[in-house]
Amino acid sequence: MDDTSILHSGYFTSALSEVDPEAAQAIDAELTRQRDVAELIASENYVSQAVLEAQGSIMTNKSTEGYPGSRYHSGAENADRLEKLAIERACTLFGCRFANVQPHSGSQANDAIFMALLNPGDTVLSMALDAGGHLSHGAAVNITGKWFEIVSYGVKQEDGRIDYDQAERLAEEQRPRLIIAGGSSYSRTIDFERFQTMADKAGAYLLVDMAHFAGLVAGKAHPNPFPHADVAMATTYKSLRGARGGIILSNDEKIARRIDATVFPGFQGTPYLQGIAGKAVTLGEALKPEFRTYARQVVANTKALSAALMDRGYHVVTGGSDTTLLLVDLRGTGLTGNVASDSLDRAGITCNKNAVPGDPEKPTVTSGLRFGTSAGTTRGFREEEFQRLGHWIADVLDGLRTGNDTAPLESAYYAKVRDLTARFPIYG
Ligand SMILES: *Cc1c(COP(=O)(O)O)cnc(C)c1O
Repeated sequence: MDDTSILHSGYFTSALSEVDPEAAQAIDAELTRQRDVAELIASENYVSQAVLEAQGSIMTNKSTEGYPGSRYHSGAENADRLEKLAIERACTLFGCRFANVQPHSGSQANDAIFMALLNPGDTVLSMALDAGGHLSHGAAVNITGKWFEIVSYGVKQEDGRIDYDQAERLAEEQRPRLIIAGGSSYSRTIDFERFQTMADKAGAYLLVDMAHFAGLVAGKAHPNPFPHADVAMATTYKSLRGARGGIILSNDEKIARRIDATVFPGFQGTPYLQGIAGKAVTLGEALKPEFRTYARQVVANTKALSAALMDRGYHVVTGGSDTTLLLVDLRGTGLTGNVASDSLDRAGITCNKNAVPGDPEKPTVTSGLRFGTSAGTTRGFREEEFQRLGHWIADVLDGLRTGNDTAPLESAYYAKVRDLTARFPIYG
């Protein structure tokens, strides 16, 4: 070996498996896992080969601080083209005038919105974490919780739906500067108009966090936050089925300018251009007619999965779902979320433990399970497959409740799951 050479031979040409077998093997094993399991984690999906290509492209090499047409680095013409494409597509898709497609993640999008519209110490009214809210809406451990005064609304005990009366009362009493509608485990359509009225009365901005249901809005299977929201944010990798990251949308030019200035230079330096390329392709795919079929099927599938679980006596919070996800309340079954999700994982069904409204357990334990249908639907699962999965979940949980050794049951169901997923192949 000539140790004066700058590059190993093949720097620009050798495959990962040749250059770094250890890393390549982990990625290969992950592909096998993704192929084999029934993926019911609500925040996951499978991107298209096209998105994969854009996100893994040489756009990663380009540094461009700023926005299209006003960059701090030269040679940004292609970056500008991609970012403009992503912005135009986002605006068309969600029926709004302005979009910022640079946030690296959904939480960073929310952080930028907080910083653009508020001063530290201002009051924010958002959904409580155990009611279905999100860490970035003011959880005590999150920067939003440390820097802002958080007031939380919850859901009604009797039906698990948002307690709008409570939210209205809190908005009137506490006069928040920002009200957030949307969460990560709330399964029902939100009354955006009612939130807008509430925000108007309190003199607050309304942020709709559609991280989970953005794909349904894009596919016209869910009401659009516009024109009710002052700002909306979405992740592009959950039901939007694409590149990992966040976007921020608005209709008001003053708000849009503040958001742009907060994302860069306020929060980030150079954006992930490979991510923006991926977002452009994602949003282009979501504009196609097939995406409407997909979004409708996601909703039908969540209903089918809810129905099967309820048939088997499991308590689905709110008695069903209008969106991509549902929440099972395990209280009264003798099971906790962590034990149940670990067992399902061993049975090839991937989901997550999740707090339920009024949960007495710690966040690492919880009394609930959250299931989503976005990924399975992309694979081609329809109502029939989700009904079957609902019964398999119930079989595994029923087995766990007997207190007997569940290892044989779990491996038997893993085999069934593998037979099912083999009929719906991913990535060639
Ligand atoms: C997933 C999610 C986000 C963003 O999460 P990241 O992991 O930071 O991308 C924000 N808000 C809600 C309600 C979410 O569910």
